[in-house]
Amino acid sequence: MIKKLFQNGKVYDFIVIGGGATGIGVALEASARGYSVILLEQSDFTKSTSSKSTKIAHGGVRYLAQGNVRLVREACIERGLLRINAPHLVKNLWFVIPTSGLREEIMYTVGLTFYDMVAGRLGLGVSKLISKKHTLKRVPTLNPNKLTAGVIYHDGQFDDSRLAINSLQTAVEHGAVVLNYTRVTELLKNQDGNLSGVIVIDEEQKETLQILGKNIINATGVFADEILHKDNPNNRKTVAPSQGVHLILDKSFLQGNDAIMIPKTDDGRVLFLIPWHEKVIVGTTDTPIKEASLEPIALEEEIEFILTTVGQYLTKVPKRTDVLSVYAGLRPLAAPKNDGKKTKEISRSHKIFLSDSGLLTIIGGKWTTYRKMGEDLVDRAEKERKWKHIPTKTKHLKIHGYKKDINLNDPMYFYGTDKEGIMQLIAENPTWNKIISKKLNIIKAQVVWSVRNEMARNVEDFLARRVRAQLLDARESIRMAPEVASIMADELGKDEVWQKEQVKQYKIITGNYIIN
Ligand SMILES: Cc1cc2nc3c(=O)[nH]c(=O)nc-3n(C[C@H](O)[C@H](O)[C@H](O)COP(=O)(O)OP(=O)(O)OC[C@H]3O[C@@H](n4cnc5c(N)ncnc54)[C@H](O)[C@@H]3O)c2cc1C
Repeated sequence: MIKKLFQNGKVYDFIVIGGGATGIGVALEASARGYSVILLEQSDFTKSTSSKSTKIAHGGVRYLAQGNVRLVREACIERGLLRINAPHLVKNLWFVIPTSGLREEIMYTVGLTFYDMVAGRLGLGVSKLISKKHTLKRVPTLNPNKLTAGVIYHDGQFDDSRLAINSLQTAVEHGAVVLNYTRVTELLKNQDGNLSGVIVIDEEQKETLQILGKNIINATGVFADEILHKDNPNNRKTVAPSQGVHLILDKSFLQGNDAIMIPKTDDGRVLFLIPWHEKVIVGTTDTPIKEASLEPIALEEEIEFILTTVGQYLTKVPKRTDVLSVYAGLRPLAAPKNDGKKTKEISRSHKIFLSDSGLLTIIGGKWTTYRKMGEDLVDRAEKERKWKHIPTKTKHLKIHGYKKDINLNDPMYFYGTDKEGIMQLIAENPTWNKIISKKLNIIKAQVVWSVRNEMARNVEDFLARRVRAQLLDARESIRMAPEVASIMADELGKDEVWQKEQVKQYKIITGNYIIN
C-alpha cells in the first residue's frame, strides 16, 4: 500500500522525519504554502513527548522572571493564535497562584500584569490580586494555611494528541502525505554529498522503501542526535533530555474550574494542578536523563516529590492509591555548550541548524509554539535553497474540526465538527452507540471513527492518543482493551491472535502508568 506512493519516483519538496509537535508544525506550514510534503513517524503520531505534556498553551511565566521577554512574547502570540484557530481544543483557563505575604502578592501581581502586557491584543484576560476568601471560594480544596491571598491570571489549556491529529488532518487537506509506523533508517546522499532522500522501513509490512526529497527535516525531538549521527558520525551531542512526570488524580482533589500554579516548590521548580477531561493533572518534574526512550518511566523520587509537594497545598492529601495514572515525557532541550548548566536553566527557545549535507534540524521550543517553529523552519529552507519566499499561511489557518462555542459538558466536544461524522456512524449502525467505558464516557463509534479517519492502527493508538484513556485512568483503559481490540479487528480485518497480542502488549506498556 505505502509502496504505491513512491513507485513514480516522486521528489518531495519536504521530507519531515518525526510526527511530534515539531514535525507536525513543519508539515502544516510547508503544505499550507503549497509545497509537496511527506511526514514520517516511526511509531504513532505523538507517541513520544508530544502526548505527554502538561497540556498548557502558555507564554511561560517563569521565563519572564528570567528576563526572556522575546521568548515569552512569541509564545503568548502563539497561545492566542491557537485559541483562535482551534477553539474546540484550546480553552481559556484561570490559573490561581496562592501567595504567602505582601512581598509575593506585589511581586506576582506586577509580574503577571507585565505578562498580560507582553501578550498585547492576543492576551486571554487580565490578571489580578484577589483576597484569601475569594481565592478559597474559587478553589475550595486549597489548604487555607498555605496562603494569605491569591493572584489569578490566564493561560490556555489544550489536548496535545488531539491537536496533533487535527493538525495532521489539516496538513493532509493541503496535500501532505503523513505516515505513522514508518521509520527512517538511512539518509541518502548524491555524488556531491548532499542529501537527496531517505530509506524507511514500513514497520507493519516490514518493507524497505526509498523516498526522495529536496529538504530533509530532522524533527525527531530527543532522538535528533540519532538522525544527526546518520548524517555525520562525528556530530557533537545537541540534545539534553530532561524528564517531566505528571500524576492524574480525581477531580475531587481540585474543585472548581481553575488551575493552580505553584511558582516555587521546595527545590525551586514550578508545579501545576490542571483540570483536564474531568480529572486533574499534577506535575511536573525536571530530571536530566541520559538515554532517550519512547516510553520513559517515572522515577520513584519524582512520584514522591509530586505527592508530597501537592499534599501541602490541598485540603485532601493525595495518596499513592489515589493516582489514576502516571506518565513521563522527555523535554528535547538544546544541549548547552557549558555542560554544568542545570536543565531548568537551559534555554527553552527552539533552534534550527543546517548540516554540511543540507540536513535541517529543529529542536527545543514547546507545543505552544509548534506553528511558529514550522514557519521559521520553512522560511529557513526557502532561504537556504534560494527559493522565492512565500509568507506564512498558518497564522490564521483553521485547524480541522474547528468549532466555536463548544459545550464543554459534551463528552465528545473535542471532536469539534467531526462529532457529526461520529453521529453519522451511529445512525448507520446503532450498535456503535454502545458505551465501552462509563467512567470515561467512551462509546464504540469512537473506535471505528479513529480507525477510519484518524489512522489508529492498534489498541494503544486509540486508548492512549485518539482518546486519552491511558492517561486519564490507566486501569480502566486496560479493562477496555479487549473490547477495543475486537472492534478494531473487525475494522482492520485482523484475527483473534492479533487481538490477544494487542491486549497483552497494551497491558505491558500501560503497567508503567500504574503505581502501587
Ligand atoms: C513533561 C513535559 C511537559 C511539557 N508541557 C508542555 C506544555 O504544557 N505546553 C507546551 O507548550 N509544551 C510543553 N512541553 C514541551 C513540548 O511537549 C515539546 O516541546 C514537544 O512535544 C516536542 O515535540 P517534538 O516533535 O520536538 O518531539 P517528539 O514529540 O519527541 O517527536 C519526535 C518524534 O520523532 C519520531 N522519530 C524519532 N526517530 C525517528 C525516525 N528515525 N524515523 C521516524 N520518526 C522518528 C519519534 O517517534 C517522535 O514521535 C512539555 C514537555 C515535557 C517533557
